[in-house]
Amino acid sequence: MSSNEKAIISRRCFVATATLSPAAAMLTPRQLFAQYGNTVNVMRKAAASAKIVVKSLRNNISVLMGSGGNIGVLTGKDGKLLIDSGFAVSQTGIANALAGISPDPIKHLINTHWHVDHTDGNEWVHAAGARILAQEKTREHLMTTIRIPLWETTFEPAPAGAIPTKVFDNQLTVHLNATAIELKHYLPAHTDCDISVNFTDADVIHVGDTWWNHYYPFIDYVTEGSIDGTIRAAETNISNTTNSMIIIPGHGPIGNRSQLVEFRDMLVAIRGTVSTLKKKGNSLAETIAAKPTAPFDAVWGSGLMSPAEFTELVYTGV
Ligand SMILES: [Zn+2]
Repeated sequence: MSSNEKAIISRRCFVATATLSPAAAMLTPRQLFAQYGNTVNVMRKAAASAKIVVKSLRNNISVLMGSGGNIGVLTGKDGKLLIDSGFAVSQTGIANALAGISPDPIKHLINTHWHVDHTDGNEWVHAAGARILAQEKTREHLMTTIRIPLWETTFEPAPAGAIPTKVFDNQLTVHLNATAIELKHYLPAHTDCDISVNFTDADVIHVGDTWWNHYYPFIDYVTEGSIDGTIRAAETNISNTTNSMIIIPGHGPIGNRSQLVEFRDMLVAIRGTVSTLKKKGNSLAETIAAKPTAPFDAVWGSGLMSPAEFTELVYTGV
């Protein structure tokens, strides 16, 4: 089996676990990619048929799972705050899930970074009543044409209603629904505009795509992400969290600090192996063939990023 076929199968497993419709789940990987074209279309298709799962976390904070990245929700008299907006095709499912939590109207949206699986729903969420807040580079990227070669996709500028109207640079604290919400910009990690959203009173933090819980992460080198930045952000997350905290990853199940440590250790180990292979003169193809991720694949390798793709992402940055 070629590494490309393996990559496709891996992505199919990811979308299948993200509740692809039974009919689509019957397709072979080759048929699936022939039908939907690229990673983004596969994610969008999975979101279209996904059941949105609501998990209540602590106090008035919940998470919605099933449409792109994990969506945090804070409810209360100031209206609902959403952390990320998933894919637009999930509008009905997300709106119904939100209505099931409380009757509070949608008033606020914070984007953890610019990627489509976290911002595609911005336009409808804004139309429903939300003001959009993000790090300033998120706004910049949403207003620019950006090509991500690994996803075989060119992102055109987002529609006007999807663009954040309030931005910050390094740090900002907002108070909503009797809760302090601390926003912090990471040094370039998964992208150059990643932020964490810390509900300090509830001891709940959303760390966006600086953490994929038990999936190999995507790293966006086009907007200044890197393996070293991803490791640095994992260290930051470990320092800034405690054992009692509930941690919302960008992708994967809700987790805790010891799982963040596992993630950091996996990144460091694979970076070390790939770096050694590259320094010995191995090409990318030879490095992928050497399977540097093998000890970790059973736990981390069934996500959007296959072992081969993640190896390529690490190889690029060492
Ligand atoms: Zn992302």
